[in-house]
Amino acid sequence: MLQGYAKLIKLATQRLPESKEEFLNLKKKLCGELKLVLPTNADLREVYEKMVAKKQIKRSEKLEKLLKTRGIRTQSGVAIVAVLTKSYPCPGNCLYCPTEKDMPKSYLSNEPAVMRAIASKFDPYRQVQNRLRSLELNGHDTDKIELIVMGGTFSYLPKSYQKSFIYQCFKACNEYGRRLKVKISKLKVNEKNLLNEQKKNEKAKHRIIGLTLETRPDYIDEEEILNFRQLGCTRVELGVQSIFDEVLEKNKRGHNVQETIRATKLLKDAGFKINYHLMPGLLGSNLKKDFRMFEELFSNPNFQPDIIKIYPTVVLKDSELYKLWKNKKYKPLSDKQFENFIIEVKNKIIPPYVRITRLVRDVPTPSIIAGPRVSNLRQIIAGKTHCPCIRCREVRADYNIKEKIILDRIDYSASGGKEIFLQFVSPDPHPTSPLQRGRNKEEEKPSPLFNGRNEEGSGKLFALLRLRIPKNKTNFIPVLQNSALIREVHTYGKLAQISQKSALSPQHIGLGKKLIQEAEKIAQKEFGIKKISVISGVGVRDYYRKLGYNLSETYMVKKLR
Ligand code: SF4
Ligand SMILES: [Zn+2]
Repeated sequence: MLQGYAKLIKLATQRLPESKEEFLNLKKKLCGELKLVLPTNADLREVYEKMVAKKQIKRSEKLEKLLKTRGIRTQSGVAIVAVLTKSYPCPGNCLYCPTEKDMPKSYLSNEPAVMRAIASKFDPYRQVQNRLRSLELNGHDTDKIELIVMGGTFSYLPKSYQKSFIYQCFKACNEYGRRLKVKISKLKVNEKNLLNEQKKNEKAKHRIIGLTLETRPDYIDEEEILNFRQLGCTRVELGVQSIFDEVLEKNKRGHNVQETIRATKLLKDAGFKINYHLMPGLLGSNLKKDFRMFEELFSNPNFQPDIIKIYPTVVLKDSELYKLWKNKKYKPLSDKQFENFIIEVKNKIIPPYVRITRLVRDVPTPSIIAGPRVSNLRQIIAGKTHCPCIRCREVRADYNIKEKIILDRIDYSASGGKEIFLQFVSPDPHPTSPLQRGRNKEEEKPSPLFNGRNEEGSGKLFALLRLRIPKNKTNFIPVLQNSALIREVHTYGKLAQISQKSALSPQHIGLGKKLIQEAEKIAQKEFGIKKISVISGVGVRDYYRKLGYNLSETYMVKKLR
């Protein structure tokens, strides 16, 4: 596949298009001919740089210009760097999960992120630096990094490998742009080195402001949570897939829904943001049941994930499901069924405090034997949905410094605690959302239900904060006893460089700070709590220090007076 991209670059240099549109068309045409997933320009840039280094092609200014994109990737406020752990067995035997030789379980060698990892031989240091380089060369800012570690069940990897992997990621950010003197693989990793690199990262040019790890619900316990915190993790992606035991069992997930409920509570009480992976169309489910699952996810306090990734079940060659499908014992959803299902979920269920991060997985269409194949679902359904989720409302480049912004608050119960979602939004509904905000301005009462749901909180989104008030004062993490928890603070818009104000971006005009002050006030005045703790990414600790917070264990903590 990488060779495919190399071929594409070679062909492109031979007949260089004049405009970006022409370049995109050429990319599409060649990808069709070479049976490739359409790569991003950053992906191509990575391959291009390698080819130049190996003297396979000459540097072409014109091509470099064509590869430069106006950074959509950083418009959520951070540069996303996804890295993959090495191939390692997984404790699961899930029916639908592919097993490819030398690949981490559940990943295919022709997925773009996997191809990048292969090119770096799964070396985390090189993966991070290569990605930073290609993002930067393509015009993205890389000061604030959201690091996502993929590769199946992270918790199942040996602890020593986990530590050395994360250590190298931090080191790669800290040393980015400088010459390496030591061979990384020769470095011994221990608790102290990791802490050292984290400390350096607090003031580094390229800071890791969030770290995501993915794992199974049954691998989350108190000890694992403490381990995740030591590594600097702030967000956990949980392979939930279904919330019905009979479906989980049929698909050989090896855990039940109780474990999802338990893991969700433990993680929330430790302040993590939680991303559920969900799979409509599993064996033993049907559209009605899948719809019920989504209803339950956001009405039952036991679930209430902050973020979701929807991966429709597809039949892949190297999976057990393939055999069942061949023997006509399994029928996947069709493109149309899945499309309609998503429209309905978005229009009827998703609340404004949730972010739908993905609608389909990056599985290259040629690898899908049966099941939904649409890879550009978001574009297809764009005109048909009125989704109030975070992603659909994020301000992105659509920001005007004079714009009116109001503070909105949504309270809900989750995992035995109270969640308070604060957001700065435009008073009018987001243009992509026809939900008419229509509040009764004088009384500030929510207006009648629109389309069967309340339109509250559907404005264009500038910044958000998640505050958790735990029910019990005791917590298995000593520093969090008697404490309110800030699980997330995020300002949207074009990424503004650290300590640089940008007229184009709402970042650094103090929205984050205002939200934090509001959260402190709520914790103290409404709930009589005298302490507030933030699960801060390592690279954001300094920001909290300026607001009166101190590092205690792995949290930033402030006494409220
Ligand atoms: S737990 Fe995840 S990686 Fe492991 S077999 Fe199941 S789906 Fe695949
Ligand atoms: Zn949405």
